[in-house]
Amino acid sequence: MPERAVKKHCKMCGQLSVFTDTNVRRHNANGKSIYKYAIYKCEKNHTWNKKLAIYKTFSEHVAEIEKQKEEAPIMSAISITSLAEQGVKVIHIVLDEVIGTHRIDKVLANQIEDWSRSQIIEKIEKGAIQINERVIKPSSRLSKGKRIFIFI
Ligand SMILES: [Zn+2]
Repeated sequence: MPERAVKKHCKMCGQLSVFTDTNVRRHNANGKSIYKYAIYKCEKNHTWNKKLAIYKTFSEHVAEIEKQKEEAPIMSAISITSLAEQGVKVIHIVLDEVIGTHRIDKVLANQIEDWSRSQIIEKIEKGAIQINERVIKPSSRLSKGKRIFIFI
């Protein structure tokens, strides 16, 4: 995977610096929201936390994921383990922008950090991953406005 770098003013350096993604991710909980950050560092090792996603917990055990525009084409990376540790039982993803046609099993395999494609296919077949509250097929297509439910 190529290193991600962003040119940005560094407050500590007092000038434009190149910040590189350390590939370290951090979650911060703040009331009903969980913020996910990527930790970037400038050449002099100053830290910048880039906000990647906001998970809104609208009930104790449900997390809603808002897609951030600059992220991957369809949705942000999801860490099931980290959400499960925070007591989340259901992940609700609303797709606000989908360009092209995408199979749900492929998209989830790319975006879920800790489930393989075969695990995802198994969960779809068992009904543990649904679209618009319906059981679907691994080949089901994603489109704008669809709601994905993942039961952890
Ligand atoms: Zn700096």
